[in-house]
Amino acid sequence: MCHKISNLPKNPHTNVQTNAYLSFMKKREFLKTAGILSTGLVLSPLISCAAKTGAIAPIAAPTSFELTPLGYAFNALEPHIDALTMEIHHDKHHGAYVTNLNKAIADKEIFNGKSLEQICEMVTADMAAVRNNGGGHYNHSKFWKWIAPGGAKAPSGELAAAINSAFGSFDEMKKQFSDAAKTRFGSGWAWLSVGPDKKLFISSTPNQDNPLMKNLVEKVGTPILGIDVWEHAYYLNYQNKRPDYITAFFNIINWDTVATDFASIK
Ligand code: MN
Repeated sequence: MCHKISNLPKNPHTNVQTNAYLSFMKKREFLKTAGILSTGLVLSPLISCAAKTGAIAPIAAPTSFELTPLGYAFNALEPHIDALTMEIHHDKHHGAYVTNLNKAIADKEIFNGKSLEQICEMVTADMAAVRNNGGGHYNHSKFWKWIAPGGAKAPSGELAAAINSAFGSFDEMKKQFSDAAKTRFGSGWAWLSVGPDKKLFISSTPNQDNPLMKNLVEKVGTPILGIDVWEHAYYLNYQNKRPDYITAFFNIINWDTVATDFASIK
């Protein structure tokens, strides 16, 4: 299709391939009428072809995200995490990350059509608002699922085998993960992730950074479990006792979610 369009003659006055443009618009109109356009699958090559010929600017809508509901009751994790903490944490803190992420990317075309994961991978140190709020949205979206009520109370199968292979035992993984969470100075997260070599590793990041942010973190990977150690995640119930919150966190991990995330990477 590109070949065909680029062979059409240019308008000698404007140096623009008017016929190509008209033909492109006609095809676009046909696809729209046929209901094919909404899939986005057919439009992309057309836009890309048109962009190459210089006939029309690429069309890509700005990405916009929404705060999804928690998916369970605010008191569902009591006594480990209290209802008020969950409500403020989800509705106010996570909600603000989503609002501010949308503001931060609204006028930045490089993020048009990108997924949340892709945005995390793209951020650099000079993009403070996208880094903090994109990380905030991704991290919390995962966090609510990793602690969702129900599910297996311990890892099994291939996930358990991968933990044993990387750390020697579940207890050793738990110790390293807990230490990373306890020693993260100030606000941040501790992670269990799958690296490019497909092996599990533990790391911690400041603020709302995460292991997907390859331009910013030392250890790059895809997180399959993470704990939020910002004070807003535990202060009402645990005050300064972050270690008690970390111990309680291990009582509410939904290992089915973790196993699903792990399987999706392999
Ligand atoms: Mn948080």
